[in-house]
Amino acid sequence: MAATPVRGRFAPTPSGEMHIGNAWTALLSWLQIRRSNGRYILRMEDIDKPRSKPQYAQQALDDLRWLGLDWDEGPDIGGPCAPYTQSERLPFYEEALRRLENKGLLYPCYCSRAELLAVAAAPHGLASEGPAYPGTCRYLTEEERLVKAAAKTPSLRFKISGEPVSFVDGAAGPVRFPPGAGGDFVVQRADGIISYQLAVVVDDAAMGITDVLRGYDLMDSTTRQLMLYEALDLPAPRFAHVPLFIGTDGKRLAKRHGDLSIAALRKRGAKPEQVAGWLAARAGLNPEKEPISPSQLVERFDLGKLPKEPVVITEKNVAELHSFGE
Ligand code: GLU
Repeated sequence: MAATPVRGRFAPTPSGEMHIGNAWTALLSWLQIRRSNGRYILRMEDIDKPRSKPQYAQQALDDLRWLGLDWDEGPDIGGPCAPYTQSERLPFYEEALRRLENKGLLYPCYCSRAELLAVAAAPHGLASEGPAYPGTCRYLTEEERLVKAAAKTPSLRFKISGEPVSFVDGAAGPVRFPPGAGGDFVVQRADGIISYQLAVVVDDAAMGITDVLRGYDLMDSTTRQLMLYEALDLPAPRFAHVPLFIGTDGKRLAKRHGDLSIAALRKRGAKPEQVAGWLAARAGLNPEKEPISPSQLVERFDLGKLPKEPVVITEKNVAELHSFGE
């Protein structure tokens, strides 16, 4: 029997310009899939319409192509799993919601943002999100629910199981989340918007994704996504969460650390091989730091060479990236 073909993806959210950190994740996920002769998919994650802008979606495609990446299926070229833009996939998410509902795994939540913020720090919160939802609305009586329903449109929460979640991460190694990590989470917001957690699971499954490589900031989401795969009887992909780029202050890379958007680097005249070579050097794939194209890096790809800690971008690094156009 032939082995399952490898399928990977990059799934940008078009809420801003793509920066060097996004390009790092895109390059690594592309190399991973090209290294195993798999199919690479581009999916536009514009599920949060108010935050997404069409010009950023276009710019993301353009920046990725400029860098030297390509894809076999995507919003601009179509493919067997079309559409590849989340805002056009609502019926799939509605279907998944119905399946979860039928299994008794959803409940309406009337808690306000202020109420949620007031929850004292709970021991089982996910690191990236603060306190876990204490389950307030999970245990409402029918009477209490009716009273609340008269005053407020609810969000929908998924009832998590009390099981611990563990998996082996391709980059980070064995990972284990304690039972109840993060608490019951929202799958549809009160404004009707489907949550990232649900949309990404439905899409990765529908698109036959076997390998998800993404930033370490999404590690906490993986516990939730694994619970959704199980509840929806869908096969989960393999995961690899790669180190994030951070500033010298330990914070996530942002504009104040220097403009490191791909658009800005391009405007300064940087060559794609310079940027790819620089990224590959940080990934342990290019010790000579030579300019090199992504396709020349495919043979060298090795997740084992990645740093284990976040990658600190110093002022010198910013200057180095900015000097590429000079
Ligand atoms: N759309 C998400 C983001 O841009 C990535 C989702 C994923 O890779 O699972 O952060």
